Amino acid sequence: MDMQNTYLDQLLEAGLLFDTGIDGLYGRSGTFENVIERFEALVTRYGSADGAEVIRFPPGMSRPYFEKSGYLKSFPQLAGTVHCFCGDDKGHSRIIECLEAGEDWTGQQEASDIVLTPAACYPLYPLIAKRGRMPEGGRLFDLQSYCFRHEPSKEPTRMQMFRMREYVRAGTPEEVVEFREKWLERGKALITSLELPMDVDVANDPFFGRAGRMMKVNQRDQGLKFELLVPVNSEENPTACLSFNYHQNHFGHTWGIETSTGAEAHTACVGFGLERVTLALFRHHGLDVEKWPASVRKVLWG
Ligand code: ATP
Ligand code: ZN
Repeated sequence: MDMQNTYLDQLLEAGLLFDTGIDGLYGRSGTFENVIERFEALVTRYGSADGAEVIRFPPGMSRPYFEKSGYLKSFPQLAGTVHCFCGDDKGHSRIIECLEAGEDWTGQQEASDIVLTPAACYPLYPLIAKRGRMPEGGRLFDLQSYCFRHEPSKEPTRMQMFRMREYVRAGTPEEVVEFREKWLERGKALITSLELPMDVDVANDPFFGRAGRMMKVNQRDQGLKFELLVPVNSEENPTACLSFNYHQNHFGHTWGIETSTGAEAHTACVGFGLERVTLALFRHHGLDVEKWPASVRKVLWG
């Protein structure tokens, strides 16, 4: 058995995660959720002085907005859509017949207006744009959402449904770069305070296909994405627990977000993978939170 299976098995056996029959889709125990809650409170402590506007979107977003966002150009392999039955009695009978015969019943389903949110910040940009030209100094948001990515895996750190806490900055290039630098330092301090080993490295998103290869190279060359990595499943392949993304004018251009002077806004976000950080804590400090180092417990529980 490989390491990855072992850690997942341990988490299931310890009752921290619950199997649902699908890789990457788990129930969480009260203890697991409590760690997530305390970690989020810690993130809030680091960010609170900045006065971000708090918004909590549901885990689904507008399909038209999703289509316009460009997600399907870059990551069609990860997207999840919501389909619903919109038929009549005949269609209903067909579903039942298919189920009874063990055949595919989903042919009766039609795409709804909702898709699953792929990253916490995707529903935000159209909202910023709709508010009109930004005030001087731009805007700052505090988001958290369940996200979906179709990447089934036995690695507990690669889930299909997981939560992302994010701070998102929109403003001039200088404002946005400064925000990202500040959070890189805060992120390192935060993870150090939890006594987790880490490394920060330049990274790329999993852009799809042949056209995606160039995008990966460009993203790396321009240093647009950094990740804070913690070994969780293995030492050789540490896990991205925090991401620091500079989108340049991508969303500003797509959505027509304007700075106070009418220039195309730049945006950046810092994303905390809430399950990943929690899994890193259990990996390094043990599966029993009562036995975690007192210093770590103090940071989380005060
Ligand atoms: P990876 O490179 O491992 O696929 P990512 O860097 O593409 O992850 P982002 O798109 O930057 O991830 O997402 C922000 C954060 O969300 C990541 O830093 C990570 O902590 C978390 N995350 C991303 N994908 C998953 C997943 N499948 N399961 C759990 N957490 C995830
Ligand atoms: Zn984001």
